[in-house]
Amino acid sequence: MPFKKGHKINLGRKFPKSFGEKISRSKKGVKFTKNHIEALRKSRLGFKMPEETKKKISLALKGRPGRKWTAEERARPGRKWTKKSKEKMRKARLGKKHSEETKKKIGAANSREKHWNWKGDEVGYDALHRWVYKEKGRPVSCEHCGESKRLEWSNISGDYKRDARDYEALCVKCHHVKDGVYEKMWITRRKNVKRREDKSYKIR
Ligand SMILES: [Zn+2]
Repeated sequence: MPFKKGHKINLGRKFPKSFGEKISRSKKGVKFTKNHIEALRKSRLGFKMPEETKKKISLALKGRPGRKWTAEERARPGRKWTKKSKEKMRKARLGKKHSEETKKKIGAANSREKHWNWKGDEVGYDALHRWVYKEKGRPVSCEHCGESKRLEWSNISGDYKRDARDYEALCVKCHHVKDGVYEKMWITRRKNVKRREDKSYKIR
């Protein structure tokens, strides 16, 4: 039978366990040559994954356990990257430029410091950050999109209260988006305050 897209002849078909083991053994330690890697890279160049496929992959990955943190790692919320991994990250980004969208997101994340309620007290923020992790532990999944990686506790009210209910788990992506939305809100508020001052608005 010739191969036809959509064939379901292999669906649910079980291969003997030894079959998988044999393949696994034969592939163990096999490394791609540099040429091969380059050829693979070139063949993928300019290829954009359809949104539909991305969604499918995302769905399939959801709820899959990520890397397990050791107890020691969990106990150090303020842990630092090692020099080696920092250097690795630096090299990976070398010569790459952020897209306009990414730049906007980074700007939004940094705008936390420009927030009118921001005391500019880095020590206070760090302590609060540690406090939230101690209080609530490590976030498990993004309360907005369900993502299970790169999670942070995000302040809800913007008042950075010492109240565990004032923090929600968000992935880095949703956190940045949220900060962007809040920043816009704050700009509008500040504008309104200015407008009132300009009209010598008086509060009785
Ligand atoms: Zn999210």
